[in-house]
Amino acid sequence: LASRLKATVTDVIKKLMGLGVMAAQNQVIDFDTASIVAEEMGAKVEKEVVVTIEERLIDDSEDNADELVSRSPVVVVMGHVDHGKTSLLDRIRHASVTATEAGGITQHIGAYTVEADGKQITFLDTPGHEAFTAMRARGAAVTDIVILVVAADDGIMPQTVEAINHAKAANVQIIVAINKIDKPHANPDKVMQELTEYNLVPEQWGGDTICCPVSAVTGEGIDNLLEMVNLVAEVADLKANPNRLAKGTVVEARLDKGRGPVATLLVQNGTLHSGDVIIAGMTVGHVRVMTNDKGAVVNEAGPSTPVEITGLAEVPAAGDIFNAVEDERLARELVEQRKFDQKEEQFKQYQKVTLDNLFSQI
Ligand code: GDP
Ligand code: MG
Repeated sequence: LASRLKATVTDVIKKLMGLGVMAAQNQVIDFDTASIVAEEMGAKVEKEVVVTIEERLIDDSEDNADELVSRSPVVVVMGHVDHGKTSLLDRIRHASVTATEAGGITQHIGAYTVEADGKQITFLDTPGHEAFTAMRARGAAVTDIVILVVAADDGIMPQTVEAINHAKAANVQIIVAINKIDKPHANPDKVMQELTEYNLVPEQWGGDTICCPVSAVTGEGIDNLLEMVNLVAEVADLKANPNRLAKGTVVEARLDKGRGPVATLLVQNGTLHSGDVIIAGMTVGHVRVMTNDKGAVVNEAGPSTPVEITGLAEVPAAGDIFNAVEDERLARELVEQRKFDQKEEQFKQYQKVTLDNLFSQI
């Protein structure tokens, strides 16, 4: 401080003493104290605005309303084990595959789009509640609608309640699919009765929870369910801006022997192009090969579109947020910074734990 003020150390220390601060030559003083001293010694003080790499690199600006266009809804299916989540997803997926797309359903990329009434719906095929929770823990708000599957012959079960709680906490719309209505012991009314205990009052009874009786086995009610998804999406008026750098979430990722790290990404805003530099959690790379859910190579992907990409240096984690960025060098710096921060955080946790252990032993 003394050298910046072109003063002697003794002068600065004297001024500090005058302020009641007893400081030695190499002591750290806070900004407010330093600025009082400096101003008293005739200098002008301004606080430097520190811009982090994160802020320089990642465009988090709001979209202008006139740039926004409609986007399709992102849906996840949740419910108790064996209530028919997988069967329902399979049924929806098969129903949407037209004869011209022969073999198009062999591809599994953890997320896919189907068409209903000429409108697109994106389904996330998350392996259970854990992935959903992991995504939420990372701050990723990926879904617009949860289809809650409840078996009509079994009713609300512990994981049903868990799913309701997740959806409510995430502020996501719930549509109830009362499944297995083809079964002789199916009792949809009992399910609706139980739902009211969780503040989900069926529309049929004057509430605002849409309940769709379906059978994943016979296909009954599936069209109606998809219609309801479109209806809820329309009311929600979902929008995104395709004319900006892509941002979204890693749905799943793995290491492929031949192709290296392969990641399924859901683009949530902007448009992702092949060749784009992206940063995903703790890894960075160029989008090398990008394929859609039908396995076709594509060069760009807009909002609500799931794609599989290669080209990342490492395997990101499911739930990581990804951003397309302009400056590759800065992106690499940011990844190093994030890795460093993570190590430091781990070290802090470790220290905390050992201190706790220490106290509990006394
Ligand atoms: P998940 O654990 O929620 O993914 O449930 P699955 O989709 O694996 O289904 C569990 C079992 O219920 C399987 O044996 C399915 O064949 C059966 N199942 C699913 N949906 C229906 C349905 O609508 N009707 C009948 N009768 N069985 C169903
Ligand atoms: Mg399943």
